[in-house]
Amino acid sequence: MSTIKKLFGSHTPSLIFHGAAQTVTGSMHLLKLEDKLIAMDCGLFQGRRHEGLGHNKNFPVPPKEIDTLLLSHAHIDHSGNIPQLVKRGFDGTVFATPATSDLCEVMLADSGHIQEEDAAYWNKKRAKTKADEIEPLYTVEDAHAAMAHFQHIPYDQPFAIAENATATFIEAGHILGSACVLVELGKNSDTTRILYTGDLGRFDMPILRDPTDPLPEVDYLITESTYANRIHHNPTDMKNQLADVVNQTVERGGKVIIPSFSVGRTQNVAYYLVQAIHEGLIEPLPIFVDSPLSTNATEIFKKHPECYDTEASDFWMEEGGIFGGKLIKYITDVKESKALNFMTEPHIIIASSGMCEAGRILHHLKNNVTDENNSICVVGFMAQHTLGRRIVERKMELKIFGRLYPLLARVEILNGFSAHADANDFIKAFTPLAPKLKGAFVVHGEGPQPIAMQKILNEAGCENVYIPAQGDSFEL
Ligand SMILES: [Zn+2]
Repeated sequence: MSTIKKLFGSHTPSLIFHGAAQTVTGSMHLLKLEDKLIAMDCGLFQGRRHEGLGHNKNFPVPPKEIDTLLLSHAHIDHSGNIPQLVKRGFDGTVFATPATSDLCEVMLADSGHIQEEDAAYWNKKRAKTKADEIEPLYTVEDAHAAMAHFQHIPYDQPFAIAENATATFIEAGHILGSACVLVELGKNSDTTRILYTGDLGRFDMPILRDPTDPLPEVDYLITESTYANRIHHNPTDMKNQLADVVNQTVERGGKVIIPSFSVGRTQNVAYYLVQAIHEGLIEPLPIFVDSPLSTNATEIFKKHPECYDTEASDFWMEEGGIFGGKLIKYITDVKESKALNFMTEPHIIIASSGMCEAGRILHHLKNNVTDENNSICVVGFMAQHTLGRRIVERKMELKIFGRLYPLLARVEILNGFSAHADANDFIKAFTPLAPKLKGAFVVHGEGPQPIAMQKILNEAGCENVYIPAQGDSFEL
């Protein structure tokens, strides 16, 4: 405790932890400087409804007191409460990379739509009890209004956030546009450097550049810890495994149904399928991405080739259409989506939501889980108590739209797609940094995850490693 003092006063500079403190959602951290209050991320807390509502409406300070928001990436658990922040008085600038800004435009509007539908659903239920109407957390319109505060900043370009303070976005390799945020305070030799990882990605992931390596040397580190206690499968095996699932299913005359998150995972799967066709690993067959959000997100991926790694850039230069071109049909129209039910020849459907809790994937599961020739291919994390988790656990029956269906289709689980660094990635990234750190703060993890990260940093030579609780603040 020699260099960091835990306090609840008004010293500067200091860090205040609000969201993603001993949990994985609602990321928000504050940096208090003498003349400015800087927020890092403003994510939506996603949990049980009543807990979520309270948490998302309560900011650690009145939003109008926050001068600037530094946004690491577009995932909703990092960006999803920005419309609420603006609605409640934030009038500063949201700095983000160009790709993050573009993704936020579609993702925040989608989130606003979900909030509106959620409120409408509960109001319908409450109407029977004559309870007061509830307002959506924010609306599509609020999401659009929030976008007026965004300012694009390219990677590796320092920009001023206060007098004698700059920030720089450096590649995080997690999703399109994702960045670690480097904050530098002071001048010349008297500087304090802070690195906030946002969500750190992995090496050798499809499409995206690798995370920055080595990371810059800093005095303080704020790091996520989502998979600090896990070792992932190799991402480069995923294309072959996916091709195997497709070939086996086609041989049986079946269909491949892939529940997938719209942003990131869908584009990875599409890219691998296109590559597999080009390399002759699979024969061309009808492939559909059935989701308006996935379709919009893919358009944004196409707009930002500056975020691609060399392999994706080369493939793009040679072949164009790395997300499908003529090989994959993207569907937004409901009628076209429904028409897929009547297709009998083998085909692939990629649809959201990722955890099978809502969206068009439910229709495709309902129509296909009872046929043993079909495959459900799981490419993402399925949280407890979701339909997706019941599929992973290969339950005998699945409840879809209130009816039970026997699960006869094969369930294939591909575990290598995670976009988060694992224990080995963290060890590689932090070993050079740790001995020089004055302190590290472990966020975005729950249960054993932050403790595993604390151990990684301790063993790499950093003594002062803290796992802040919500509301904790530290003088730097
Ligand atoms: Zn993320």
